[in-house]
Amino acid sequence: MAWSFKLVRLFGVDVKVHFTFVLLLVLQGMQAFSTDGLAGAQQVIGFTLAVFACVVLHEYGHILTARQFGIQTKDVVLLPIGGVARLERLPERPREEFLIAIAGPAVNLALAGLICVVLASRGVEPLGVIRTTVPALLTGDATGISLLLSSYWFFLLAINLFLMGFNLIPAYPMDGGRVLRAVLSVRMGNVRATRVAAKVGQVLAMSAGVFGLVNQDFMLVLLAVFVYLGAGAEAQAVETRAAGKGIIVDQMMITKFDTIPVYATLRQAVDLLLDGEQREFPVVDGGGAVAGLLTRDNLIKGLAHRGPDSAVSAAMTTGAPTLPLGLPFEEALNRLRASNLPALAVLDSTGRVVGLLTLDNITDLILVRQAVARG
Ligand SMILES: [Zn+2]
Repeated sequence: MAWSFKLVRLFGVDVKVHFTFVLLLVLQGMQAFSTDGLAGAQQVIGFTLAVFACVVLHEYGHILTARQFGIQTKDVVLLPIGGVARLERLPERPREEFLIAIAGPAVNLALAGLICVVLASRGVEPLGVIRTTVPALLTGDATGISLLLSSYWFFLLAINLFLMGFNLIPAYPMDGGRVLRAVLSVRMGNVRATRVAAKVGQVLAMSAGVFGLVNQDFMLVLLAVFVYLGAGAEAQAVETRAAGKGIIVDQMMITKFDTIPVYATLRQAVDLLLDGEQREFPVVDGGGAVAGLLTRDNLIKGLAHRGPDSAVSAAMTTGAPTLPLGLPFEEALNRLRASNLPALAVLDSTGRVVGLLTLDNITDLILVRQAVARG
């Protein structure tokens, strides 16, 4: 994700922080500092970091459960509205999706349980704390809030229960929406279940957005936009997969394309780019084997850093995966998405480039296929 930087690596997954999250911390700290001085700023920042520690643990519930089903995670990004664990792919079986989705809220429940035990061992009645503090998170009730802020334990107890309940709201792609989709999938199949869950998610997001606007709660508006767009994007991804069922990469690849020799200059690559519609170019060596892939980004960065007379080989992306002819389209799409590249080369059995699978042409072909299927 752009504008984010790595904080730490846990269990083989990078935890990244988006700069807007840092901005939020600074703004909240400054606001608290102006009203309550240094102690106030420290408290606000401390509580915010505590919330995000719980969010990270929640995400690791998803990540480690997904790993049980062979699904790896690219990274976790902390945004002001929460954490996002970016799984390499979505689980296919409803049971897997259900367990992966429920694991996050389950972590918050477990943490809350743990804190209750700690409180009880110190002679504090946890239920009394919950009854006063959790509703205060929603209503802003002054007694509840001051109790909440009087101890990290009270605060973390209430926050974990809140995170659990909030994430279980059935607004796809939030956890509760994924649970809903998994349950619906058993009865109506993946595609229809996604459509229904996405619609429910968008309706809830729209209502929350309007409520947020009326009450000037801009965090809620931001979250609503995020859920709304996320629901649409994921529904589209599932439709794409469904439309691509039963076909192979050969049917979806571009066969009219240019390659660039590895010794060409960036100036020559620019000519080629401006000549036609093609945006990504397989780079081939003297024997015709693939040496890399030159994307538009590579080209722009190469021009900026090394100039137009530098070699393509210095600017290209190396180590990009390639796709064999005959590969099922779904698998090809998974590999293309996982590569984070806009295109991948398709090779025949002798290692010669015979096609190019790009995200752009996939979208076009899917639209055509959907239109044909409806017509
Ligand atoms: Zn979650």
